[in-house]
Amino acid sequence: MKLKLYNSLTRKIEDFESITPNKVGMYTCGPTVYDNVTIGNWRTYIMSDTLRRILQYNGYNVDFVMNITDVGHLTGDNEGDSSIGEDRMEKASIREGKTAWEIAEYYGNKFKKEYDLLNLLPPKIFSKATDHIKEQIELIEKIEKAGFTYKTNDGLYFDTVEYEKAGHKYGELSSLEDIQEGARVAKNPEKKNPRDFALWKLHTTIGERDMEWESPWGVGFPGWHIECSAMSQKYLGDQFDIHTGGEDLRSTHHPNEIAQSESACGCGPFVKYWIHGAFLLVDNGRMGKSKGNAYTIDNMLERDFNPLSLKYLFLGGYYRKQQNFTWEALEASENALHNLYFKFRALGDDIGEVNKRYQEKFIKYINDDISTPQALAIMWDVIKDENISNPEKKATLLDFDKVFGLKLDSLKEKSHDVPENIMRLVDAREKARETKDWAEADRIRDEITEAGFLIEDSEDGPKISVS
Ligand code: AMP
Ligand code: ZN
Repeated sequence: MKLKLYNSLTRKIEDFESITPNKVGMYTCGPTVYDNVTIGNWRTYIMSDTLRRILQYNGYNVDFVMNITDVGHLTGDNEGDSSIGEDRMEKASIREGKTAWEIAEYYGNKFKKEYDLLNLLPPKIFSKATDHIKEQIELIEKIEKAGFTYKTNDGLYFDTVEYEKAGHKYGELSSLEDIQEGARVAKNPEKKNPRDFALWKLHTTIGERDMEWESPWGVGFPGWHIECSAMSQKYLGDQFDIHTGGEDLRSTHHPNEIAQSESACGCGPFVKYWIHGAFLLVDNGRMGKSKGNAYTIDNMLERDFNPLSLKYLFLGGYYRKQQNFTWEALEASENALHNLYFKFRALGDDIGEVNKRYQEKFIKYINDDISTPQALAIMWDVIKDENISNPEKKATLLDFDKVFGLKLDSLKEKSHDVPENIMRLVDAREKARETKDWAEADRIRDEITEAGFLIEDSEDGPKISVS
C-alpha cells in the first residue's frame, strides 16, 4: 500500500509522491536551546523520527535536516508577534549567570545526548542558526529585492500585505481564527500590518547583547523565522518534500517560513507536504514551567524510567490527536516495553524470515497516515501467534523495529555472549565512576539491566552476566 499522509496545506490525506524518485528532503524545526527540552517537544521529534523511519522502510533515501535555534526567538513569537517580548537566550543567560553562547552550547549538547537516548536517527545535520548568519542575511537581501520589506526604528520587517498584493497567499496553513488571534496581540505601533514580522532586529532598541552581527541594516540579530528558510534552502534546495513540527507552528512560524522562502526564490510551493503533530498535554492541560509540569528526560531518569518508555507511550497514540501524559501511563508503557524485551529474548538466538502476512498488515497501518497504535498491536499479534516459529517471529519483530526504534536489535545477539554495545556501556560506566559521576554511572547500570544483563562490581573490575 502506498504511503498516505495528512497534509496541513491541503487539509487532506494525500498519496505521498516524492519530488525526485526514491529521494526525500525533510526538515523539522528543532528546539530553542535556552533550557531543557520538554517531553512535549520530544513528542514532536519522535513523530518526525517515526515518519522518517517509515519513509526509509518504504525504500526512500531520506535527507533529514533539523535546526537548532540558538538566537532570535523572542517570547512574543509564540503569540503571533515576532517584534515583542524578551529574548529567550538572553533571558536564560541572566537566569544562569552565563553568556548566551554558553547557554546554547550547554543545552544544545544536552539535547543531542537525549536525542540519542531516545534512539532517534541522527539528521544529516543539526544546523545551528548562529552558524548560518551569512545565509540568513543573503536571504533577507533577496526578500528586500523582491520588494516585500520595510524598515522601522527597531528592524527590518516582512510586509505581508505587499506580498499578497503580488499574488501570493499568506497564512494558508493556519485557520482564520489563528490569524485573527495573532492580529489581536500585535503591539508594535510601527508595524504596517499586524501580521508583519521581523526579519532583522536592530540592537539599538534592545540594549547590550551577547549575540549580534553586522548587517546591511545595522548591527543586530535575525528574526526567529528566517533561519528555517535559510537553512532548509541551503541543505535541501528551494523546494523539498516534507516539513514537520508541532501544531502550534501552523499559525505563525510556518506561514512565515513559506512567505520568506517563496518570495525569495520566486517559486512555489516551498514544501510539498506539511505534517503537524498534535500537542502533548499533562494532567489534561497545557504543560508549563510555571505549573511545574513541563517534564523533561531528566525527570524521567530521576524516577528510574527508561527514556524509550516515553517513545513506546507516544507510539501508542495517534500523532494527530492530542495525548495526555501521566506518570501512571508512563509506568504502564515501561511495563509493556519490559514485557516486549522479555518476550523477544525468550525467542532464542536464531533469526528466520520475516512473516509476509504480518508485514503486509504492518505496512498497511504505518502507511495509513502513521497509524502507529495499530502497528504496535500487530507486533503483539506476532508475539502471541502460536502458528509461527520463533526464528520467524524474531525476524518479523526486528523488521518492525526499524520503524519503532525500540532497540530490539541491541538484544538480538546470542544470549551467552556479552554483546559489544553492552561492553561499550560497561566501559562508559567505568569512566563515569572514575570521574565520580555517580548519577551517570547509575543511569548506565540501569540501561545495562534493561538490556537484560547483570553487572556486579568486584575487585577484578565489573563482572557481566545474562540476567
Ligand atoms: P520550541 O522549542 O518551543 O520552539 O518547540 C520545539 C518543537 O516542539 C516545535 O515543533 C513545537 O511545536 C513542539 N512542541 C512544543 N510544545 C509541545 C507539546 N506540548 N506537545 C508537542 N509538541 C510540542
Ligand atoms: Zn522552523
